[in-house]
Amino acid sequence: MKIFRISGGIHPKGNKELSAEKAIEPVPMPSVLRIPLQQHIGAPAVPIVAKGDVVKKGQLLAIARGAVSAPVHAPTSGRIVAIGRFVAPHASGLPGATITMRPDRRDEWGERLPALDPATAEPSALAERVGSCGIVGMGGATFPSAVKLNLRSRHALHTLVINAAECEPYLTCDDRLMRERTDDVFDGIRIMAKALGVAKVLIAIEGNKPEALAALTGAARATGDKSVAVVKVPTRYPMGSEKHLVQTLTGLETPARALTADIGIVVHNVATAYAVYKAVRLGEPLISRIVTVSGKAMVRTGNFEVLIGTPIHHLISHCGGHVEEPARLLLGGPMMGQPISSTRASIVKGSNGVLALAESEVPSGKTMPCIRCTACVVACPCGLAPFDMAQRIRNDELDGAVKIGLLDCLSCGSCAWVCPSHVPLVQYFNYAKGKLTAEQRAKHKQEETKRLSQFRDMRMDKLKKAKQEAMAKMMAEREAKKKAELAEAADEAKVTE
Ligand code: SF4
Ligand code: SF4
Repeated sequence: MKIFRISGGIHPKGNKELSAEKAIEPVPMPSVLRIPLQQHIGAPAVPIVAKGDVVKKGQLLAIARGAVSAPVHAPTSGRIVAIGRFVAPHASGLPGATITMRPDRRDEWGERLPALDPATAEPSALAERVGSCGIVGMGGATFPSAVKLNLRSRHALHTLVINAAECEPYLTCDDRLMRERTDDVFDGIRIMAKALGVAKVLIAIEGNKPEALAALTGAARATGDKSVAVVKVPTRYPMGSEKHLVQTLTGLETPARALTADIGIVVHNVATAYAVYKAVRLGEPLISRIVTVSGKAMVRTGNFEVLIGTPIHHLISHCGGHVEEPARLLLGGPMMGQPISSTRASIVKGSNGVLALAESEVPSGKTMPCIRCTACVVACPCGLAPFDMAQRIRNDELDGAVKIGLLDCLSCGSCAWVCPSHVPLVQYFNYAKGKLTAEQRAKHKQEETKRLSQFRDMRMDKLKKAKQEAMAKMMAEREAKKKAELAEAADEAKVTE
C-alpha cells in the first residue's frame, strides 16, 4: 500500500531491545491497590462504594460523571479501606481522589456482563458496552473510547486507523500484545470497525516490529477480511501522533484544531482494541493492562500484565529494583512520559511504561543561548517555529505564541531533542499551555460567578417587584374596603334620618 511522507520527525535510539523479547508476565498481587478516580481526561468518576465495603473483581466502584468520563471497576476482590486523596501518577505529585482497597487474594469475580455477539449486536450496543467497561485510549491519551465509537452519529466515517506504531523509544508493550494475543487483538479491531460502521481498517505498525507485522498480517489473511490492511510505516518519531499517522497512511491532512473524524477517520490504539475484545466477548471491564518496565537503571526489564491501581514501587521491586539510582524515573516513554514524583502512585489505564533511565541514557548538556540554527524547525512535525514560540513565551507574550501555533504543538519533544543548545523547548510549551488552561479556567469561573450574580440580582428584582405589587394590591383592597365601609355607614345614616 502506498504511504505518504510527512515532514519533520526524528530518529531517537529505540532501545527496544531491552524488553522486546521479554514475554508478558503477570505481576504478583500487591498488598494494596490504589485506584484513582480520574484515569481519563474529563471529570473524575463518582464513587458508589464506601469504606468497609467488600467488593468482587470487576465490580463497579465509581460511575462516570459527564460525557468524557469513564467508570472505574475493582481490579480484584477485597475490601475498600479508604476513599480520599492520594498522590496521583502525575508530574505535579498533587493528590487526587482515590479508592484504596486491600485484596483478599481470592481474586473472585462478581457478576460479569453477558458476552455480546458482534455479528448481531447493534453498533450502539457495542459502544455502550465499551463505555460501561470503562475503556479509555490506552496509548496514553485516555480519551473515553465509547465517545469515539459513537462519532458515527455526527460524522461521515469511512476508515478506522489502528495506532500500533508504538513510536516512543523503550516501549514494547503493544509489540508483545500483538505478538502474543494476535487473534484477540484482531477480533477487538473488527468489533471497533463494526461499532463505527466503517468499510476500511488500516493497522499501522512501525517497521521495527517485524514479528507483530507478520502476526497481524497472518490474522488478516486467516479471516479473509479484505477490509483490513496491515501497513508497515517508517520507524520515525512521532509516527504515533494521530494526525501524522492518518496523513502517512492516507495522504489526508486534518485541519488545525479539527478532529480526524472531520475527514472521516477515527484512530484507536491497538491496546484499546484488546480491551474492547475483553469487554464485548468476555464481559470484562478494564482492570489491568500491559506495562513495559525498562531502562538501564532497572535490574530486570520486561513486559508485565499489571492490575490497575498497583503501586509503581511494587512493580519496580518485582523487577529487582535499581542497579543504580535512576537519573530519570518516568511513567510512559522518554519523549512524552511524565516524571514520577512518587513511586507510591499507581499504574493507571493510560500507563504504558515505567522507565528508570541511567545517567548514560539521559541527554546531558548545559542550556546555552539559541543560535538560530533552525534544527528545531526542521524536526517539528507540525511545521512550527519552536525557537520563536519559546522566545515569545519567555517574554510573556502568550497570545503571540498562540498566534504562531502553540495550540497545535503536540509536546512531542522532537524540537528539544535536536537542539544543540539544549534549550528546554517543550518545558516552555507545557508551561504556557498549563498557564493558558489555568487562565481559561479562571475566566470561566469568573463568567460563571458573574452569571450567577446577575441571575441572583434578577431574582431579587423580581421578588421585590412581586412584593411591591402584592403590597399595592393589598393597599388598594384595603382602600376599597374602607371606601365601602364609609359608603355603607353613610347609607345607614341616611336610613336613620
Ligand atoms: S514539541 Fe511542539 S514545537 Fe516541538 S517538535 Fe513537537 S510539535 Fe513541534
Ligand atoms: S534548535 Fe535550539 S539553537 Fe537551534 S534554533 Fe532551535 S532553539 Fe535555537
